[in-house]
Amino acid sequence: MALPLLEEEGVTQRGWSEAESEIWGLEVLFVTPRGREEAVSVRRMACRSQEQSLREELTCAICCDLFQDPVMLECMHHFCRECIQGYWSRCPRVVSCPQCRREFPNQAFRPHYLVSGVVEKVRQCSSEECRRKMHKQFEDALLSQQREMENFVRMKHVAEQNICSLTKISTELHSKIQAEFGRLHQILEQEERAVLIELAKEEEQLVVRLQGDIMQLEQGIFEMKKGMEHTQQSLSKMADSLLLEVESMAVRPAVHVEVSPTLNLEHLRDRYDGPLQYIFWRRMLRSVHPAPASLTFDPESAHPNLILSKDLTAVTESSRPRPVHQSSRRFQQCVNVLASETFRSGRHYWEVWVGNKTKWDLGVAAESVDRAAKIKLCPENGYWTLRLRNRTDYWAVATPWVCLTPQTPLRKVGVLLNCEEQRVAFYNAENMFHLFTFHQATAHSFCPFFSTCFSDDKQNEEPLRICHLAL
Ligand SMILES: [Zn+2]
Ligand SMILES: [Zn+2]
Repeated sequence: MALPLLEEEGVTQRGWSEAESEIWGLEVLFVTPRGREEAVSVRRMACRSQEQSLREELTCAICCDLFQDPVMLECMHHFCRECIQGYWSRCPRVVSCPQCRREFPNQAFRPHYLVSGVVEKVRQCSSEECRRKMHKQFEDALLSQQREMENFVRMKHVAEQNICSLTKISTELHSKIQAEFGRLHQILEQEERAVLIELAKEEEQLVVRLQGDIMQLEQGIFEMKKGMEHTQQSLSKMADSLLLEVESMAVRPAVHVEVSPTLNLEHLRDRYDGPLQYIFWRRMLRSVHPAPASLTFDPESAHPNLILSKDLTAVTESSRPRPVHQSSRRFQQCVNVLASETFRSGRHYWEVWVGNKTKWDLGVAAESVDRAAKIKLCPENGYWTLRLRNRTDYWAVATPWVCLTPQTPLRKVGVLLNCEEQRVAFYNAENMFHLFTFHQATAHSFCPFFSTCFSDDKQNEEPLRICHLAL
């Protein structure tokens, strides 16, 4: 009985080339028995039609199911091992390929592991569980992409808002800087006016004086002329008169004119010939606000181990406490001291010389801080301070601490307190570089705060000094 030749439509007629087939992500190369090559991309296996076509390629022409233990005949047609063996066992004559009829007297075939692997994969991927898994995977991916996109949208919104805020702040600062310069111009113009008025007054006084001299001299000249006429007359009368008569013609007394001492105009020039810009800048500095305040330490607040200079502008730490009277204002645990001045409103700036000290703390404290207890310096406890440790480690004592890296070691520190805006800012007072700003500094009243830290066997014995602006 002749076996039917399996050539119906849709039934696979293609064999596999070895070593060139891979599924899910690589290209699978199919080689027809006629040597025709055809590359089929299975990269997007989610597509049902592609999947269907792949299934067809991997379907046994005998059992019409996915290959089970596939083998390849020499004609390059594939069948399940059982199918081809069953087919050949029923074959009365020389066995042949059910598809191309090529005869195989030795019944030779060889297993095709590559196809076997691909079939296994397709089987797995077609399972309901795999489908569910993939579905879940895609759903999860979509969800995560949605979340990421929402995040991007949010970030974009924030960036856009930042542009608005930046523009707003920049405009505010622009106006502020203009106002500050306006104020400086105003002060400078006032100073200029004052100096010019002074000069004009001086000129006027001198003119008045010189005019007075001129009037006096004119009067003198007039008197003198009259005297001269009189003398002339006396002289001419002498020829005709008796000597007796001449004697009675007395010479008029000398005219006395009192004029001012000689005026040295060079003096005036000299007075206005100094380093005018520096002179006016110094005068102007008196009107600048805030300018460095001339603070002094409050002796009653100083820890017993602190020694203050007579003028209360320098403080050092001593290993021995000095006898002091009890005060609720005195720091009892830490070597701290406050300035006498307290601030409740306005802007205040002061400068502290720290020189070559190896450690210190300074800044602002709320007047209400607990001075009897050992309290950590932090904004929560009413301290807004800068700190040096180990000679070179600068910190803004915020929560958490912020490490500062000034370009040059700090020798003079500027502190700006803005009560209304609740800000405490620090500067390198030698070049006015901004170091750090605390925000939300709230207190009923604020005190400038200083701590020398321990002298550490003279290593840190240099005093802290409040700088006074010498004008
Ligand atoms: Zn089969
Ligand atoms: Zn064949």
